[in-house]
Amino acid sequence: MDSCLFCRIVAGTIPATIVRETPRAIAFRDVDPKAPTHILIVPRDHIDSVDSPEAEDGALWADIIGLARGIARSLGLSDDGYRLVINHGRDGGQSVAHLHVHVLAGRRLGWPPG
Ligand code: AMP
Repeated sequence: MDSCLFCRIVAGTIPATIVRETPRAIAFRDVDPKAPTHILIVPRDHIDSVDSPEAEDGALWADIIGLARGIARSLGLSDDGYRLVINHGRDGGQSVAHLHVHVLAGRRLGWPPG
């Protein structure tokens, strides 16, 4: 998907601060952080959103959750805590149509969402 922003980051044609990679997913810093630590984990293959049929892939989720846990451990976030967020569609607040998991940490995060 040449026009997809996150596909272009995966391909390396748009710069990003890569934090960690696996064969199936990459993690990079959000360009407009909503918390002191804000990292996005995206599958390398294009999937529109968590609501897409291709998102029903248990091995992919094992990879993504493993990445999130590894990042949290390596950045020392596990003890104080962190939040994983997936937005889908208009009401969910999804603005980039390539499946991504937000890893948010570094301050007490509000609940419920506004
Ligand atoms: P969402 O609203 O759930 O679709 O999240 C999209 C996220 O992508 C937002 O937090 C944006 O700040 C982030 N974002 C947009 N463009 C870039 C970029 N070029 N590099 C890194 N993060 C980006």
